[in-house]
Amino acid sequence: MFEVLWDMLVIRVLLCIFENVNKATQPCPCGFYNHPEKECVCGPGVVQKYLSKISGPLLDRIDLHVEVTPVNFSELSSSRPAEKSNLIRERVIKGREIQDKRFAELEEVHANAQMSANMVRKICEIDEVGRGLIKQAMEKLGLSARAYDRILKVARTIADLAASENIEIEHLAEAIHYRSLDRESWAG
Ligand SMILES: [Zn+2]
Repeated sequence: MFEVLWDMLVIRVLLCIFENVNKATQPCPCGFYNHPEKECVCGPGVVQKYLSKISGPLLDRIDLHVEVTPVNFSELSSSRPAEKSNLIRERVIKGREIQDKRFAELEEVHANAQMSANMVRKICEIDEVGRGLIKQAMEKLGLSARAYDRILKVARTIADLAASENIEIEHLAEAIHYRSLDRESWAG
């Protein structure tokens, strides 16, 4: 009996998570905010209010936010040159090797994502310019300390993928860009 109750509880929690993530995938109640062809019919302030409900703790726990607008078929089938997947694969393998070396002496940490807040401070060093950029982003986007750590971890991973020893300003800027749902200005 206990097991059945436990299973039901697990299912309930999973449904709840799915519901929240699903909500997070809708840009607004009508679903057409930022749609290239259809018009969002949500009133002024509604989108902002809707987003503020799903943001915060849930968004804090997600490393990368990317806003995706619908793509029409001609764009999908256009012959834009794309990077070959075997090259991407090689880059990812090299990036993982750099991380394996970095954490070789630690039993429980194998990747940047697993770093503690203290490790982030030590390993994800940024220079004065970088600190200025991240400070500006924190203030403008109203980021939490948790989001700050995530930006640094993601920036470190972007730098690893570029085989760069230091986190350069472009790596940091890209990582900040992946917090797009934190943007206070998101809904205008
Ligand atoms: Zn809408």
